[in-house]
Amino acid sequence: MSDKIIDGKMVSQQILDDAARRVQVIKQKTGKTPCLATVLVGEDPASVTYTRMKRNRCEKIGMKSVKVEMPSQTTTEQLVAKITELGNDPAINGILLQHPSPKQVDERAAFEAIPPGKDVDGVTLHSFACMWHHLDDGFDCCTPGGMMRLLDAYKVELKGKQAVVIGRSPIVGMPMAGLLLARHATVTICHSRTQDLPGVVRQADIVCAAVGKPNFIKGDWIKPGAVVLDAGYNEGNVGDVDYEAAYERASLITPVPGGVGPMTIAVLIEQTATAAERQWE
Ligand code: NAP
Repeated sequence: MSDKIIDGKMVSQQILDDAARRVQVIKQKTGKTPCLATVLVGEDPASVTYTRMKRNRCEKIGMKSVKVEMPSQTTTEQLVAKITELGNDPAINGILLQHPSPKQVDERAAFEAIPPGKDVDGVTLHSFACMWHHLDDGFDCCTPGGMMRLLDAYKVELKGKQAVVIGRSPIVGMPMAGLLLARHATVTICHSRTQDLPGVVRQADIVCAAVGKPNFIKGDWIKPGAVVLDAGYNEGNVGDVDYEAAYERASLITPVPGGVGPMTIAVLIEQTATAAERQWE
């Protein structure tokens, strides 16, 4: 593999191996097995696949998982009640509510029902505040958390660097901006109303794309030597960055697939191990 390519498969495997080792230590010390509960409302096929992948990963590294499936007409009250029950269950260390939830559900209310100590997907307002304040008390949102771990694995200097995040969703763009700012990057957040996006991206030492549009970020927007992280995952295994053209200019770049993608589950698993350590040790 070219030394410009950020190998998310390798870094995610290192994280999973480390989590597996920590799970063994927890089992030896406490006699208990860490457990992630996945909650899925409805039957969206992609969400069914994602939650299954997450549970499989748990079991592969020696953790338990509990599958909670609720019908698509579930109300906010019913979902909040189920999450509260899981929150009160001492055998459950982490709770993942697969999103998006059906339209009638107030997703924010459901997320906030997750106790902060079990918010291993980093979706509560508590975790959000911790990301922006660089506090250890919460959990990272998994995709931006994974992007930060890639930057660290490749020893990318963040202090004082110009970082441009394209996208401001609550699960990728916004938390990514907070995590970068907490590490002393100078951060610009771009969105659909940003004027002269190419001009803004051209200033960036670190480009983080989270737009959801295939090949949207053009190669000639990339400053020579920039580090490019592409969270985008569009139909046909295509990212948000025009990879071939951006590769020519970047010093480091994530491929799609095999870059940011594998990091999301790895961080979820790692954070479930961390939650178990905090709760039981
Ligand atoms: P999202 O909620 O749809 O947000 C997209 C963001 O892009 C919005 O903030 C939007 O701006 C911005 N945007 C749209 N058009 C734009 C334009 N022309 N110029 C500048 N900004 C524009 O998407 P998301 O959930 O953050 O996901 C982003 C990508 O990451 C998707 O491809 C998704 O599949 C991928 N993803 C991957 C993982 C993983 O596990 N690897 C996890 C999550 C997401 P406004 O706010 O102004 O509308």
